Amino acid sequence: GIEKSFPHKEKGMVKVLDHINLEIEKGQFVSIVGPSGCGKSTMLYLIAGLEKAEQGKIRINGKEVKGSGSDRVVVFQEAGLFPWLTVLDNVTYGLLLKKMSKQEAEQKAMEMLKMVHLGNYIDSYPHELSGGMKQRVSIARALVMEPDILLMDEPFAALDEQTRMVLHKELLDIWRKTKVTVLFITHNIREAVLLSQKIVVFATRPGKIKATFKSNDTKDGVMPSDVTLQLEK
Ligand code: ATP
Ligand code: MG
Repeated sequence: GIEKSFPHKEKGMVKVLDHINLEIEKGQFVSIVGPSGCGKSTMLYLIAGLEKAEQGKIRINGKEVKGSGSDRVVVFQEAGLFPWLTVLDNVTYGLLLKKMSKQEAEQKAMEMLKMVHLGNYIDSYPHELSGGMKQRVSIARALVMEPDILLMDEPFAALDEQTRMVLHKELLDIWRKTKVTVLFITHNIREAVLLSQKIVVFATRPGKIKATFKSNDTKDGVMPSDVTLQLEK
């Protein structure tokens, strides 16, 4: 029952999310797709606790959440690493804030960095990494917190197709290994079909969604070539 409005210069308050009901099962990989400006990021920020809804409740494991918490971590389109910290220090940062010992934090961070194939880059600084590598650090930094849910807002949108394909595979490997619940926002419906078990479509009006794609296309982790979504009248 989530409702969220924002002030608009000419129109006054505009309702961006109007009674949204969304259920995500533990361990599921769910994508949200929809046109630009339909409120996907807003929904994610509400779940993250970075914005506050006017109406409705968000529950995780049955418990209502208010504000942010390390049980929900966000990976944005921009990796947003601390440029003055090494890769390892970027990943241990949140753990040290939680008062974990340096030794334990570094051990956990190393494990996670190995999982994203950056074990040899722990002493590098963000400016020495490619876009895809930075996004891997960002994913490691999120997962090291052992969140209940990983919130990803177009995490691969700024990457080239080749790098994106590699990261798709790595993300799915990580998801299978860690069994973390993922909410993934994308403009790319083909990407959503490849990655997710459930796709939520945000539309600008009510209606039935008809999706067409060749399902056997997604074998071998390749995105389906042709997906169309149609909002029926
Ligand atoms: P995109 O695919 O382009 O990222 P989106 O679906 O993520 O779009 P949101 O960023 O959630 O869209 O924005 C939804 C609507 O809410 C837009 O019309 C936007 O202008 C408006 N909006 C979002 N944040 C604010 C804010 N802080 N103040 C005013 N309006 C806002
Ligand atoms: Mg957005």
